[in-house]
Amino acid sequence: MASLSRALRVAAAHPRQSPTRGMGPCNLSSAAGPTAEKSVPYQRTLKEGQGTSVVAQGPSRPLPSTANVVVIGGGSLGCQTLYHLAKLGMSGAVLLERERLTSGTTWHTAGLLWQLRPSDVEVELLAHTRRVVSRELEEETGLHTGWIQNGGLFIASNRQRLDEYKRLMSLGKAYGVESHVLSPAETKTLYPLMNVDDLYGTLYVPHDGTMDPAGTCTTLARAASARGAQVIENCPVTGIRVWTDDFGVRRVAGVETQHGSIQTPCVVNCAGVWASAVGRMAGVKVPLVAMHHAYVVTERIEGIQNMPNVRDHDASVYLRLQGDALSVGGYEANPIFWEEVSDKFAFGLFDLDWEVFTQHIEGAINRVPVLEKTGIKSTVCGPESFTPDHKPLMGEAPELRGFFLGCGFNSVGMMLGGGCGQELAHWIIHGRPEKDMHGYDIRRFHHSLTDHPRWIRERSHESYAQELLRRLPPR
Ligand SMILES: Cc1cc2nc3c(=O)[nH]c(=O)nc-3n(C[C@H](O)[C@H](O)[C@H](O)COP(=O)(O)OP(=O)(O)OC[C@H]3O[C@@H](n4cnc5c(N)ncnc54)[C@H](O)[C@@H]3O)c2cc1C
Repeated sequence: MASLSRALRVAAAHPRQSPTRGMGPCNLSSAAGPTAEKSVPYQRTLKEGQGTSVVAQGPSRPLPSTANVVVIGGGSLGCQTLYHLAKLGMSGAVLLERERLTSGTTWHTAGLLWQLRPSDVEVELLAHTRRVVSRELEEETGLHTGWIQNGGLFIASNRQRLDEYKRLMSLGKAYGVESHVLSPAETKTLYPLMNVDDLYGTLYVPHDGTMDPAGTCTTLARAASARGAQVIENCPVTGIRVWTDDFGVRRVAGVETQHGSIQTPCVVNCAGVWASAVGRMAGVKVPLVAMHHAYVVTERIEGIQNMPNVRDHDASVYLRLQGDALSVGGYEANPIFWEEVSDKFAFGLFDLDWEVFTQHIEGAINRVPVLEKTGIKSTVCGPESFTPDHKPLMGEAPELRGFFLGCGFNSVGMMLGGGCGQELAHWIIHGRPEKDMHGYDIRRFHHSLTDHPRWIRERSHESYAQELLRRLPPR
């Protein structure tokens, strides 16, 4: 068992060596493939008791010959979009998942949901996700999604940060989000294991919490199916059919799979890090890159039970409650690209690069000193998609009528999933979203930029790293 402090020492002495297990050299720009599955902290993962790829077994049910909408991808975004399409009354909606639901990025998410962000639209989107996973799905299906409401705590290590949190509190008030600014002493009472010596204060949001990826997606799929939608697993989409109308406008005609095709006027690309590949099938540029994103799960910590999740923006680290342990993660200054996105990847993880990850450990130990002597139970490093301005890609692609994007979620695709799934469904049915989604609309990028791989790569890398430095006022 390695402790966090040992991880710090090992990384300093032998930058490329894992303190939890032997690890070969790994370049910062890595083309390395996924490793064998590691211990991921969910009780109910969809992978349990199953072999590796199931695609060879064929689709989980027969394909219909026609559909009003085909959603590609059964992760957070695909399942949320399908559910909201069905809920808004869309008939003939079909979701095609290459492998099994959640097998891409979603299965290993940390699942944190903070209700406060410095944008009124985002506060509304987050509120909708929370409503869906904490109440509506359970009322509709009788199933618990795995939502845990343990609260959230934002850390302010300087006066400016605390002022930003006070502004967030005011914004939250307008939307009915309960939050409290706490003094260091009050914070210590709430979270006795926390070091508060260097704190100006904290923002406590009691109704924040954590989503369970498998529980959320299976319940969404169940609820959507009950409303007439179809979920078909083990069915990779291999092509998009396009036709050109009398005015020269390119339009979606259908999707192709190894098991037959579906005629449809509308496709939604919710394929996560594979969204660029799906876009290429349709001649649509999807400006995102795949990068490694990680957290580690500690051994048991006495006294941590029922503590809120913690986000320390200055240290760029989060501490997520994981039963009687913590998950520790954050945004690194030098994130690693996944160069060759493999379509064989399902329920997979990468080896953690400790040299990259170590920067989070010092901040975590400073905030909760008991971590220095706490062991690391598992590492979770998976692929996630990132975009040039750190905002998702949504809406109809300008190159192809009927081809919608719901991808590029920059590590917040669980918490934004419900709100964005609802907006996307509205966009498809009514031709526009209900909220002002300009900041997420794919049309914000001129085609000279979506056609510029080097710009996309460098800006996305920079935007990820800047999350570390980014401050909270509206951008
Ligand atoms: C370590 C880590 C921690 C995170 N923590 C948080 C967090 O605390 N809170 C939060 O909100 N977000 C978090 N995220 C981000 C969040 O998990 C993702 O944004 C979200 O899961 C992405 O969902 P998705 O549906 O876009 O993609 P995915 O889950 O990858 O789903 C895409 C699906 O498309 C399928 N697919 C691909 N190609 C095809 C094809 N040709 N045909 C059919 N299907 C196809 C794939 O198999 C996959 O299942 C974290 C991410 C990581 C990596």
